[in-house]
Amino acid sequence: MPLIEIQDLHATVDGKEIIKGLSLTINPGEVHALMGPNGAGKSTLSNVIAGREGYEVTGGRVLFDGRDIADMEADERATAGIFLAFQYPVEIPGVATTTFLKAAMNAKRRAHGEGEIDAMQFLKLLRAQQKELDIPDEMIKRPVNMGYSGGEKKRAEALQMAMLQPRFCILDETDSGLDIDALKVVSDGVNKLRTAERGFLVITHYQRLLNYIVPDFVHVFAGGRIVKSGGKELALELEEKGYAEFAEQAA
Ligand code: ADP
Ligand code: MG
Ligand code: MG
Repeated sequence: MPLIEIQDLHATVDGKEIIKGLSLTINPGEVHALMGPNGAGKSTLSNVIAGREGYEVTGGRVLFDGRDIADMEADERATAGIFLAFQYPVEIPGVATTTFLKAAMNAKRRAHGEGEIDAMQFLKLLRAQQKELDIPDEMIKRPVNMGYSGGEKKRAEALQMAMLQPRFCILDETDSGLDIDALKVVSDGVNKLRTAERGFLVITHYQRLLNYIVPDFVHVFAGGRIVKSGGKELALELEEKGYAEFAEQAA
């Protein structure tokens, strides 16, 4: 069964139609890259899948694990295993990242009928992941995202992903604001999470990130739809030619 199946999706923001008949199937184990010009609606698509408020689905549907997610709130989608990384949570004043991570893990466990995670087990997991992602204690004692630099924010969110182990991860513009070292750390973190069960939608503007997170499929998003799909070589072609041709085609 596909992990995510988007069928002829239409969605509006502020009464304006941004997603105009988008279809995409992602199977377990696959990494799909979605590339397109700025303002095309890539973030809108991720927000629609994550169930953020203010985004209205006006047609089509999204199935996760075969289940229509239309009636699920954002937090239900998150506990079910849909993860939107690198755009939010925004700053959460007063809540240390460690506390937040534990609460998020416990929410997910409850949703799956499991008890709270053992404190020692949590710490052990946390330590191991911190080490992988090069995250000092001092950083996760700070409130979520408070005073994090761009790179720290993304490392913290990669940590969140590693701790929560979501089934489907959306990475929206992970590369923006990352220097090359941070990009490598975050990409390594993502690559370690690539398994036969998990799927990824990697949204990016530039080809660069895809040198580190190598996708199985690349899709061009323009005019609210996917206008071309191919293998990883399509990203190189786009880097060379730009999006102009596709923007015209979509218009
Ligand atoms: P991308 O991520 O591809 O750069 P976005 O999804 O951010 O594109 O934006 C697509 C269009 O939707 C833009 O015209 C943008 O102004 C509009 N849009 C996105 N989010 C909102 C919002 N919350 N309120 C109003 N307009 C929005
Ligand atoms: Mg944008
Ligand atoms: Mg965007």
